[in-house]
Amino acid sequence: MLGDPLITRMREFGTTVFAEMTALAVRTGSINLGQGFPDTDGPPAMLEAAVEAVRSGANQYPPGHGVPELRQAVAEHREKHYGLAYDPDHEIYVTVGATEAIAASVLALTEPGDEIVLFEPYYDSYAAVVTLAQAVRRTVPLRLTEGRFTFDPDELRAAVGPRTRAIVVNSPHNPTGTVFTRDELALIAELCAEHDLIAITDEVYEHLTFDGVEHIPLATLPGMRERTVMISSAGKTFSVTGWKTGWICAPAPLIAAVRTVKQFLTFTAGAPWQLAVAYGLRHELPWVTDLRDSLAAKRDRLATGLTQAGFDVIRPSGTYFVQTDIRPLGFRDGLDLTRALPTLAGVVAIPTQVFYDNPDHGRHFVRFAFCKRDDVIDEAAARLARLG
Ligand SMILES: *Cc1c(COP(=O)(O)O)cnc(C)c1O
Repeated sequence: MLGDPLITRMREFGTTVFAEMTALAVRTGSINLGQGFPDTDGPPAMLEAAVEAVRSGANQYPPGHGVPELRQAVAEHREKHYGLAYDPDHEIYVTVGATEAIAASVLALTEPGDEIVLFEPYYDSYAAVVTLAQAVRRTVPLRLTEGRFTFDPDELRAAVGPRTRAIVVNSPHNPTGTVFTRDELALIAELCAEHDLIAITDEVYEHLTFDGVEHIPLATLPGMRERTVMISSAGKTFSVTGWKTGWICAPAPLIAAVRTVKQFLTFTAGAPWQLAVAYGLRHELPWVTDLRDSLAAKRDRLATGLTQAGFDVIRPSGTYFVQTDIRPLGFRDGLDLTRALPTLAGVVAIPTQVFYDNPDHGRHFVRFAFCKRDDVIDEAAARLARLG
């Protein structure tokens, strides 16, 4: 075969910084605060429910849109937490994690050449899937303003034009930890109505907010339910990122469109996990509240260590991640620093600039994950103290 067999438009996505940094962590025996997965397990009774589902024979293809138990549990959860009513038969669809839900939504809802607005820094799969769909991404930077990352309303307005089809809204936001306020969401809603846009909302951290900050689903704003594809996942909520079980809530016509694509990607998602997640949504939300409180304490623990090591810490209101400005330590480029950090301090982190179309907007930020055991965070903090 001649040359690179990969289609041209996907070549820029060849190797991810996560693979590079994880390999670096393994090679140097560093503590990996790069990748965002928890190093403790989900609720024991929910894990047991998965085992029980396997033992009791839930081992063949479940229905394409998901097992009824999970769709019903999702409907009850939406109603109870957000006052949103979704019909479990026509308005809820189970997917292979949020990642597949996002991919299927973008592929199903955008034509080649359509523009999709993304806030940057963005979760890395967004850019790749927009490219797969041959759509065009228009990015709006989240800028550090009064201690949190947010967008400039004028920059958002300017990004929306006649070719815009959709906007992807991730709140609580990875990698900045921002939770959009009602005012911020209201502006997004106003633009969606004005330009007849579809909102694709990535709410995988919906339960993981701190300091009493409340997650507000965009679909709860006036006029938004009818145009929002709302995406959730069990991975972050229940610390089971390996289960890859997510779901979409949206009006029936949007679900029908997404289904048309999703059924040929994976057809359906793993049956035992679905039954266990249904159990989790019904019985383990108190466990999730404890997880949230423990994550808030871990955030503070790591933030203290990072501050003592000389970083400027931007306190997140949600998610697993804390952003740091590296300039007080005398560094200017996060990619250079994260490549050197295993040798300098035995810790691995992620340079925030890789989540931007324009890396200059995030050159001096580095992301650390705090969804780790306290002893791991303490050891990382002790090692980072050597930097100063
Ligand atoms: C982890 C994560 C996902 C992926 O969720 P899965 O359910 O594992 O596919 C999607 N979006 C964001 C912002 C994430 O942090």
